[in-house]
Amino acid sequence: MKAHDGMYIDGDWRPAAGTESISVVNPADEQVIGQVPAGTAEDVDAAVRAARAALPGWAATPPAERAARLAALRDVLAARKEEIAETVTAELGSPLEFSRLVHAGVPIAVAGSYAELAAEYAFEEQVGNSRVLLEPVGVVGAITPWNYPLHQIVAKAGPALAAGCTLVLKPAEDTPLTAQLFAEAVHEAGIPAGVFNLVTGLGPVAGQALAEHEGVDLVSFTGSTAVGRAIGATAGAAVKRVALELGGKSANVVLPGADLAKAVNVGVANVMSNTGQTCSAWTRLLVHEDSYEEAVGLAAAAAAKYGDRIGPVVNAKQHERVRGYIAKGVAEGARLVAGGPEAPREHGYYVSPTVFADVTPEMTIAQEEIFGPVLSILKYRDEDEAVRIANGTVYGLAGAVWAADEETAVAFARRLDTGQVDINGGRFNPRAPFGGYKQSGVGRELGAHGLTEYLQTKSLQL
Ligand code: NAD
Repeated sequence: MKAHDGMYIDGDWRPAAGTESISVVNPADEQVIGQVPAGTAEDVDAAVRAARAALPGWAATPPAERAARLAALRDVLAARKEEIAETVTAELGSPLEFSRLVHAGVPIAVAGSYAELAAEYAFEEQVGNSRVLLEPVGVVGAITPWNYPLHQIVAKAGPALAAGCTLVLKPAEDTPLTAQLFAEAVHEAGIPAGVFNLVTGLGPVAGQALAEHEGVDLVSFTGSTAVGRAIGATAGAAVKRVALELGGKSANVVLPGADLAKAVNVGVANVMSNTGQTCSAWTRLLVHEDSYEEAVGLAAAAAAKYGDRIGPVVNAKQHERVRGYIAKGVAEGARLVAGGPEAPREHGYYVSPTVFADVTPEMTIAQEEIFGPVLSILKYRDEDEAVRIANGTVYGLAGAVWAADEETAVAFARRLDTGQVDINGGRFNPRAPFGGYKQSGVGRELGAHGLTEYLQTKSLQL
């Protein structure tokens, strides 16, 4: 695995200002696979200056040319797909097949969607006697997590570049090698120097310096609600734009008459994929009391099949945290029907695919984001109660509804306080807006809605 001993700033790999470094660990065997520099405020400042200097040129670049650079970026990512998959597997631990399909495949699709959007989007519109110009917001500070390391970078860099913004990325400390690979791809795609810059480093040091930098016009953050809240407060005090993509505790609601086996099996697969480290995972399964025990049996059997097919969680801290939540579920009286808190292997940060039945809405495991392979099954008596339970957390990021027909499922979905709902197993759409209601965040990513986060309007009265 190649690791750069420097920051990608102004089109070049430059030595870091400080001497500290971060060890990258493979969570499957706990071995160190590389070192990257731990950036300081000085590195962040150099990167923001480079982004600011490049802004006028990139903002004035015709959208068709920005689209061509994004198409080239998509092509480089596609050409280096296998290397991306191997890098994500090495630092995140996901099975290689999943890394190929999702961790490498989805960012290629998203980069492609922004190449198309940059070409087709109307950056000017007429409103009565006004010509409204949609202009880039400026320099973007992007702070990303480790759970979908490349997707979360491309979900910010794609629309930022399409809009004409320049950016500085501070990726998660657990997955910096994927971010370095992305910087190489940006370079290969011929995106001009300074338009994209990378500073690796610790959240409270480099991340905070980026969020607080007065040369940044928009902070786009994905990660925990605690850090998101602090970033939102900092941005608010500076009257600076902010986009927050935070946690979730989404519900998978099976209505009477739905295909129960399909709903449960797809639901378990959704929670177990990426070892449960998905902010939009449907971690609460809501089933009518008449089908409850059948659903519990199906879920336990489905989880058991995942036994050794899932990867580890990302690091030692998450390993402790996730198993702590499982122990808490047992202590609060939920019925364990698959898995448990014991580490299933001696080495690597593995967690057993776990299913709890008899979970009540106020339990910790029904309220807090666990970020591990843990499913909670709750019981409802009627639709109103199902809506109350589904909406009864501080989050509102995603969800699923299954019913005998689409119309019934859609009618139920309209009552959910959440940003995205899959109806009877609807497919992922890289152009559909993604983002949260309530404490799941502010703003939207992906597609045209994601692009507008990076634009500001200027009205000319003619
Ligand atoms: P985190 O919020 O600490 O980290 C996300 C990013 O923010 C990283 O790049 C990190 O370096 C940076 N960061 C951390 N502190 C910062 C600060 N003070 N200022 C600026 N940037 C800072 O998340 P984590 O510790 O990696 O994970 C903890 C929990 O967050 C998880 O268990 C999960 O519940 C949640 N999470 C959610 C998502 C999501 O997609 N919504 C992703 C990852 C983690």
